[in-house]
Amino acid sequence: MSLTLAIVGRPNVGKSTLFNRLVGKRLALVDDQPGVTRDLREGEGRLGDLRFTVIDTAGLEDATDDSLQGRMRRLTERAVDMADVCLFMIDARVGLTPTDEMFAEILRKRSKHVILAANKAEGNAADAGVLEAYNLGLGEPVRLSGEHGEGMTDLYAQLMPLA
Ligand code: GDP
Ligand code: MG
Repeated sequence: MSLTLAIVGRPNVGKSTLFNRLVGKRLALVDDQPGVTRDLREGEGRLGDLRFTVIDTAGLEDATDDSLQGRMRRLTERAVDMADVCLFMIDARVGLTPTDEMFAEILRKRSKHVILAANKAEGNAADAGVLEAYNLGLGEPVRLSGEHGEGMTDLYAQLMPLA
């Protein structure tokens, strides 16, 4: 039984960067529903000795302003439903935004298990954002830097009991 992890969050928080770090070149398949081919990417993730399926909610950035909220919501709900665990990512350098709150609401209602990740957390410019993340009511945030590979052992510790 393989664990499926969905990386969700608003555009530009660093989802795809983490996806690429976890999956490397082992990108397996894309969603096969017409019109959404680029919207959900799936690959074989590796972290230490863990092997799991990772879903990246790509394609959020293509939406026009009018449709963006609805599209993000639908796509995220699909990813959440496919996953055993959601990694909900916020940008710790920016802090919480209303859109983050919308994602948190989806996850509180819908997801089985949430790992909250405060990303871009390299250096101390992210400290305030990491503290803000506690306000989401989704537990203790994992301090991550997907780009620099920091916090991966903390992510491992969260994933390991679930795998
Ligand atoms: P996505 O839209 O959520 O998939 O975000 P991307 O992975 O495309 O990243 C958005 C931007 O954030 C890019 O310019 C990345 O280089 C940058 N980024 C991603 N991870 C980190 C990180 O850990 N630290 C910093 N400082 N920037 C990051
Ligand atoms: Mg992306």
